[in-house]
Parts: sequence; structure tokens; C-alpha cells
Amino acid sequence: MQQLKIIPLGGCGEIGKNMTVVEQGDDIIVIDAGLSFPTEDMHGVDIVIPDITYLKENRKRIKGIVLTHGHEDHVGALAYIINDLKVPIYGSRLTIELAKRKLNERFPDKDLDLKVLKPEESFTLGSFEVEPIHVTHSLPDSYAIALWTQIGIVLFTGDFKFDFTPIDGKLTEMSRFGELGDEGVALLLSDSTNAESAGWSPSERVVTDGFRKVFANAQGRVLITTFASNIHRMQQAFNVAQEMGRMVAVAGRRMEQTIGIANSLKMIQLPEDTYIRLEDCDKFDDREIVILTTGSQGEPLAALNRMANEEYPRMKIRQGDTVVYSARPIPGNEAAIWQTVNRLFRQGAKVVYGRDANVHVSGHAYAEELKMMINLTRPHYIAPVHGEPRHQAAYSRLAQEMGYSEESIIVLDNGSQLVVEKDGAYMADRVPCGRVLVDSSGYAGVTDELLRDRRNLASDGVVFVNVAIDSDAGKIVGSPDLVTKGVMAPNGEIDRLKEVLDDLLRNLSRAELKDTAGVHQDVSDVTRKFLKKTMNKRPLVVASVVDV
Ligand SMILES: [Zn+2]
Ligand SMILES: [Zn+2]
Repeated sequence: MQQLKIIPLGGCGEIGKNMTVVEQGDDIIVIDAGLSFPTEDMHGVDIVIPDITYLKENRKRIKGIVLTHGHEDHVGALAYIINDLKVPIYGSRLTIELAKRKLNERFPDKDLDLKVLKPEESFTLGSFEVEPIHVTHSLPDSYAIALWTQIGIVLFTGDFKFDFTPIDGKLTEMSRFGELGDEGVALLLSDSTNAESAGWSPSERVVTDGFRKVFANAQGRVLITTFASNIHRMQQAFNVAQEMGRMVAVAGRRMEQTIGIANSLKMIQLPEDTYIRLEDCDKFDDREIVILTTGSQGEPLAALNRMANEEYPRMKIRQGDTVVYSARPIPGNEAAIWQTVNRLFRQGAKVVYGRDANVHVSGHAYAEELKMMINLTRPHYIAPVHGEPRHQAAYSRLAQEMGYSEESIIVLDNGSQLVVEKDGAYMADRVPCGRVLVDSSGYAGVTDELLRDRRNLASDGVVFVNVAIDSDAGKIVGSPDLVTKGVMAPNGEIDRLKEVLDDLLRNLSRAELKDTAGVHQDVSDVTRKFLKKTMNKRPLVVASVVDV
């Protein structure tokens, strides 16, 4: 039977950790391997990656991982999964360089199988024919991926927009999408992130004018914060700086690395005598300085946030500085960002942010562009990916407006298994799927239990209960010892708890006391119930029972 299976392990019903499995006969290829960022209640968790149990179970069948582009939500999980999978990784020059940087940090001496793709040059991977197609996005060298399969062409748009005046001059290969449409696209898996935004997204180039305005009005230094990977944005900052007689310095290790990589690939043009060291800024007048910096998402360790906290050794914010937020807040980061913005104001800086300032545009297609992609490729089936349920729903609505029937629009979620055959498509059994939390120590596998403990600890504190038993004598020694940290108990609840535990222990029989595990369980349960009932709190309870 000729059939194709599509199994998203991440990125469907959420924004982040994009990863999709494509299966045909015995062959599997994986499109992207991204991470997402933790929500505020995931204490001590640095990043979230897809659960790859399914891939581990089918490891021998995997022919390779094909990357659409170098953003973290598409490549950020590689360093955590590649040891388990040991398969070749394919991507554009920049994608591979960005992935390599992260992989080398974790595996400095390891030979990894990384292969560079060229746009429009197709290659064979197992029983698949794979063709990368250039698209415009907020990162250069981004690809859509077309797969020739037994059931026809399957097209992953990757993250894209139609930018007709891209910063690097490289357009989305619209004619190629049209040709694929002529050949017959069986299934289109489309970016749906901006499906709720009507019209066309503005070109990345509008930021140049936004920067010009800010630079002209700035009384002193201009600081621009954006994603460390946003090469187009940094290029525009360099261009406008040169035009208006300012030097550019960089504060932030990741950003310096990205500029280094982009420069070595000739993907950024650094105007002559404009790029200076941060330490040399003070040799110039404040009105001759632009500083590019990391920290647009309120990341506590990024340069801008350390400046805002007056903890950055290399420079300080001062009166007259203008700080430009050239990025959109990723949902979940808003509180941290506003906190930084407020601190910057307090230190005398002017902060420029928001839509009206024209200092940021999205790298994702708006509704009309999404329709244009559908029009060019005229797929039989459409599946919105790279979006939360509301984005997928908005995309489905626009596809319906274009005449697509409900049966031909397929809304996938992580773990669902779409089977496409020559004469139809259906959903098969789900595969094991979920999220893996990576601790700030770098280890993957923070469990839900651990997370719950951390959450309880953070909000309600911890209670240590120490009990000493003399099981031979069949009695407890002294009374239970209670120590609390971070527990608010203003009405003598802890003393009462001590009495309750004392009662409990004195009423246990000699045989019951001999069972220290049982005593441990009883003490923990009673403590938890008491605190829940009297104070409506769930502190972490740590009991220890010692037989002396
Ligand atoms: Zn992207
Ligand atoms: Zn993305």
C-alpha cells in the first residue's frame, strides 16, 4: 500500500519546539528539531524539547534530520537528541553553522554528520527526494522543504513571508512554488503563526526608516536590542549607523558570534570602520555610538538586563541613552521585559518600543501571504502548523474562504498521526509524545513531580519533620521536631501540628512503630493534610524517621 505518515512531535497547537516525522515504508525523515521556552511556573527549567521516544524506538529507520532554518525553535533541540539518534543533519549554510555552534558547545570533540544544502538542488534521502526552496524570513538562508513521496509532493513551508524588498535581496522562490503547484502538491504544511493578522506583513526594510528616525532624535547613545540571530536587523543598524555617522559596538556574546558567522559567510556587510569594540565606545561622542545588545526577551543573564540591573561590568546605562526594543515579546516573557523597560527608564534612558515605532516587523506571513502560498501551490490537503490552536483555526478559516472543504483541511496536534494515501487521508493511532524539560544544569528530564515540588517550594515553603523512634522499646524518643522555611504560619499552626503528630505517634502500636516506612508515610500524610486544612497551603514536606 502506498502511504505516507506525518507525525508532528512538536510545533502543532503551540509555538515552539517544531519537529515533524515523515514516514514512508521503512524510511523516516525528520523535519526540524526545535526547542521552546519554559512558562513562568517551570522553576529552574531552561528549555523545553520534544519527547523523542517514538524516534528512539524507530532509530534505525531514520535517514536524517532536515532543517528549514537556524532559529532555536527549529534547531535548538539538536544538541539534546543527537546522541540518542546519531543521524545526519541537513540544512542551509547558515543553518548548519548556527546548529554547529550549539552542538560544539555541548560536544566539543565530536564528529557530527552535518551536510550543507543548496537551494533548488534536490537530493535523495532514503526513498524520499528532498528539495530545499529559498524563502524570506527574519533569518537569511531559510528554506521551505519539498518532498517527493509515493503519494505526491509534500511541502513544508517552514517559517516564511513574502518580502519583496528583502535586506539580502534574495526573494522567496515564488515561481518554484508555482511549478510545484503545476506538478501537483498532495499536502501543504504551512506556517500559521500570523494567520490572525489581516493583509500583508510589512517588509523587513521598513525598520531602516524606523531606525533613521530614532537615530536622528537620540540625544546620546542608541542601544538596539533584538534576537542574537537577527542578521537582517543588525545589517540595517549598521547601514543606518554608517549613514548617520555613528559607530557600532556589540554587547552580548551570542550576538558577536552570530555577526562573526554571518560575516564569514558574507551574509552581513559590515561597513568599513564602523564596527568597534565595546571598550572603545568612550573614545567617541555619545551621539556617535550605536550598541547592539542581547536581552530583548528579558532574559536575566543577557547584557541589556544586566545593564538595567547595574550589574554589567562592561558598560552602564546613563542619562541620554535611547534603548530600542527591536523585537516582539514572546508570550510568557512580557513581565520580565516590562521590568527591564521600567528599570531602564529609571536610570534616565528613553525606551522605544511597540508597533508605532516601526522598529520591528514580523518574519511570518500574514493572512494574504498565506493565501498566496495556497494559490501558488494549490495543494490537495492543507495542514496549518507552527501555531497555537487559535492560529491553526484562523488558518483553517482562510483556507475555507478560498474554497477548501473541511475534509481537506487537517488540523494536527503533537502526537497525532496523519496517514495519506493516493485516494484519501485519515488519522491513525497517536504515538507517544510530550515534552522534555531541560534543567538549568543542562540535564534533560525534569519530571512533573520535580516541577511540582519546586512550585510548592517557591509558593508555600518547606516543612522538615524529624521523628526519632526506639522500636525495641516500642515508643518515640522525645517529641517530633519541626523546622520550617518560607512557611507563613502566624496563628501557632506549627505548634498545633507538633501536638497532632505527637498524638499520632503515641497512639501507634509497638508493631506499627517497627515499620519505619509506614511511620514515615503516616507522618508525611498527616502533616500535609493538617497544613492544607488549617492554612490551605501545600508546602513541600520532608519527613525523616530514625530508629535509634
Ligand atoms: Zn523562524
Ligand atoms: Zn519558527
